[in-house]
Amino acid sequence: MKGEVMALYSPTEFRAQFRVADFAATGALFEFMLTVDGEDPAALVARFRTYADLPFVYVLVVHQVPLVLEVLAALKAIRSPCYPYALFFVDSSGTAALPDLATKSLDLDILHVAGSETDRLIHQVEAYAGAKFQCDKQVLQRNNQRDLPEAVDVVVVGAGVTGLYAARRLKEKGLTCCVLDERDMVGGIWSRYANRTSQVNSSEGAYRLIEKQTRCNRDHSTTREILEDIAQLAEETHDRLYLQTRVEQVRKSGDGYEVRLTRDRQAVRLKCKGAILAINDRVGAPRKIQWKDEARFQGPILSGFADSTAGFDWRGKRVAIVGMGAFAVENARTALEGGADQVTVICRRHGTVCPKIIDYLNFATPYDQDFKHPRKSNMRNMLLWKNLYKLSGATEPECWMGKIKHDGHTISVSDIWFIAHHLKKLHTVKGTVAQMDQKGVVLDQGRFIEADVVVNCVGFERNAPVAKALSAYAETYNINYLDKDLMYLADAFIDDNAFNSFFGSSVLEMAKFYLEVYLHYFDTPAFDTLISAQGIRKVPIEERCWSHYIQGAEALVRQFGNIRQIAERQVAQRTRNFLEVHDLPAYLAENRREWIDTHSLLAGRPMRTEECLAYVFDKLLDEK
Ligand SMILES: Cc1cc2nc3c(=O)[nH]c(=O)nc-3n(C[C@H](O)[C@H](O)[C@H](O)COP(=O)(O)OP(=O)(O)OC[C@H]3O[C@@H](n4cnc5c(N)ncnc54)[C@H](O)[C@@H]3O)c2cc1C
Repeated sequence: MKGEVMALYSPTEFRAQFRVADFAATGALFEFMLTVDGEDPAALVARFRTYADLPFVYVLVVHQVPLVLEVLAALKAIRSPCYPYALFFVDSSGTAALPDLATKSLDLDILHVAGSETDRLIHQVEAYAGAKFQCDKQVLQRNNQRDLPEAVDVVVVGAGVTGLYAARRLKEKGLTCCVLDERDMVGGIWSRYANRTSQVNSSEGAYRLIEKQTRCNRDHSTTREILEDIAQLAEETHDRLYLQTRVEQVRKSGDGYEVRLTRDRQAVRLKCKGAILAINDRVGAPRKIQWKDEARFQGPILSGFADSTAGFDWRGKRVAIVGMGAFAVENARTALEGGADQVTVICRRHGTVCPKIIDYLNFATPYDQDFKHPRKSNMRNMLLWKNLYKLSGATEPECWMGKIKHDGHTISVSDIWFIAHHLKKLHTVKGTVAQMDQKGVVLDQGRFIEADVVVNCVGFERNAPVAKALSAYAETYNINYLDKDLMYLADAFIDDNAFNSFFGSSVLEMAKFYLEVYLHYFDTPAFDTLISAQGIRKVPIEERCWSHYIQGAEALVRQFGNIRQIAERQVAQRTRNFLEVHDLPAYLAENRREWIDTHSLLAGRPMRTEECLAYVFDKLLDEK
């Protein structure tokens, strides 16, 4: 890799993106500002909810407290992401006492701004936001000094989101467990490979780690939010967490298992009744690639993950992105939001990109008793989506309409993808990189792509061979069990039909479901009835894919009433989560507002609705 990018990044350069709601008419100009002018609370709440894409702080004066408290109560009732992180009280006299608010129940910070100088206000708000809205990875490093127990009920291998989530559920169920991870911090691929500009692909209600009382994460949650949630999970399970502890083997032993591990360079053995391998499957080590004549390229060649592009100045640049998985689509967004002039995505085949509303609908639309959506609404969504491809000029995946996506590909969720195509700032080219030239990339068929910077997003190797070596099982049941009380709980190869089940686009939803099955059948002989049920079969561990655990779940739900209840509870809770924060009208209002604003952001000037790519989803409201 060329170009030492971390050197380009200095934390002081990073301006946290946040939205200021200015009730006090201070005249201060923040980058993302909403002025509030004599509105009633209900109208304000409706307006704020269309701006749910950035964290909020409010600026106000003391006499506005009753209005603000009403707004806060309404937003809190729906755990809206518009609920602010802080109230800044402007006190022009410099002597007024701060109002006596029950800060704890409000769950926000209260700050005093003495004097009326706007510079001071701007400085204070930016300093607060700069500290608050950055992720501090130190919180992911936990005290690791305690001794390992000799035996526990369950050993969890891996302290990524799956392992930590599992540990909390085991703890809630009163089971003893320990979570072992070879790294010195928790968070798995979120702390290792996510960029600070990354976002969850799945809609928020389906990728929720913590049920918060006041404010849920924003839709398509940010890395900061996910890392903070991971830190909280780690805090809740800290007494069971052992980092820098590498699991070498998990072997059957008597009625349970023996886990062989290395900790402090010592080989240790640990007894357990069961184990959960939460060590990922789909995302292993980054694929290594070296292009011919890389050294000739004059610009930097950056990697698209682990913050390698942080601090890079995208303004006016021609950007070539190699690959078309989720990280490629994300890097296209980051470059465009950062002011890139042109982005070219070079791909061997076109990955599927889905507008946000389609992913939302896939979760928020009611299921029938077989956990399927009505054919009619599926067809309608598909036609709207296809129309969006056509109107924007983006290239459809080659596999359409036979398959929704290519084998092994994920579906990336991005509105900017379509908007940037419409604005002619983004396009895709099919091909593979043959070599680099001074000024760009030469493709296999001789086509030349001029570029100032190249971003490598060629993806990751699978991790399934690691699980096989660790456990010595060559096969897994299609319900994630390797054996009794031994589960491989991990994202698998994304084949056809993935996303067309009650897990939607979320591996976390899959993990939540199977974890409940695991807890229900833990240490009971009834496990045998599970694996002998119709439709439950073994598959080679290295061939695990989404359709296996989808078919396995469907078979369990069909044959076991208690498992059907697990699925029903999960889906009902999730649907409540979705509709509480954004029912369809609220979601559409927010999505539409963001749609127009994104055009203006990319164009660098305010854009009128008529100039924008048509927002084709309004008609969903009429059909509701
Ligand atoms: C930016 C981003 C967005 C994403 N968006 C989505 C989305 O929208 N929907 C979705 O479904 N998925 C999404 N994912 C994909 C992701 O696969 C999962 O959501 C999830 O993060 C995987 O977590 P995990 O805990 O299963 O695995 P990991 O995060 O990989 O954690 C595994 C842990 O196991 C540890 N480990 C491995 N081997 C050993 C060993 N032998 N001994 C000890 N420890 C070991 C590793 O150190 C690691 O910490 C996203 C991922 C990223 C980074």
